[in-house]
Amino acid sequence: MNINKSNKGLLVVISGPSGAGKGTICKELLNKNNFWLSVSSTTRAPREGEVEGKNYYFSTREQFKQKIDENDFLEYAEVYGNYYGTPKSKVIERLDEGKDVILEIDIQGALKVKEAYPEGIFIFILPPSMEELKNRIIKRGSETQESLMTRFKSAYKEINYVSKYNYAVVNDEVDIAVEKIQSIITAEKCSVERIQKNILSKEGLIHEQLYD
Ligand code: 5GP
Repeated sequence: MNINKSNKGLLVVISGPSGAGKGTICKELLNKNNFWLSVSSTTRAPREGEVEGKNYYFSTREQFKQKIDENDFLEYAEVYGNYYGTPKSKVIERLDEGKDVILEIDIQGALKVKEAYPEGIFIFILPPSMEELKNRIIKRGSETQESLMTRFKSAYKEINYVSKYNYAVVNDEVDIAVEKIQSIITAEKCSVERIQKNILSKEGLIHEQLYD
């Protein structure tokens, strides 16, 4: 028996404060792996170059509220005045198909996913320093002075939530941060506890499944 075939996909949650570099890290992880990136819904207006269905599904507040009422989200959160949500059914389907899924979401959302799906891997991306975080938010250039200050102030508070996560990775250099995340994923796939939970406890055939 092929042990990988009966395995559920891994849910990898990349989270952390705005400006820590979650987006860049996710892009690199997607280039190097056969992951499925969940595209969120948001009520935020598209930024220049953003594409519907690729970066986000852009929706009105009314459309978003309807999806909340219909229980369509695995989690949703209000981030800096806009709503963001992760589509539930698509994520669950991909995981059931054995596909590894990546979510790039804010901290409130990640904590909600952890409650609903504790077997996920929760990785907190830290900036190398608060000064660097500020520079990155400024460089992005898409924020007004006010929203820049809001994002920076919440980042200070948000860093405290690192203790709720399974792993913390400092994003000093993207390549190194990505390598560390790859190692985390590899280790998780080899975790006996995970293998037991996912496969072996279902069948009760530890030896046969590993060696058939
Ligand atoms: P931005 O407006 O810069 O694209 O995203 C703002 C914040 O919302 C980022 O921290 C981003 O990770 C987060 N975010 C994006 N999609 C989701 C989502 O589906 N749920 C939650 N909770 N946060 C999200």
